[in-house]
Amino acid sequence: MRVVECDICGETISAESDEELKGRLGEHLGSAHERGASAEELQELVASEAYEATDS
Ligand SMILES: [Zn+2]
Repeated sequence: MRVVECDICGETISAESDEELKGRLGEHLGSAHERGASAEELQELVASEAYEATDS
């Protein structure tokens, strides 16, 4: 599982893949913070900040 923390509120967003994670993060930024993010921006955020998490 891939996890990334929202830069703005610190909420943890998780998904099965980086691809899905980008979508979730984009949705979160839009709905929770009314902040649009481009595909490049999401790609960069996920590439630099996402990490692998294990289900426990
Ligand atoms: Zn947030």
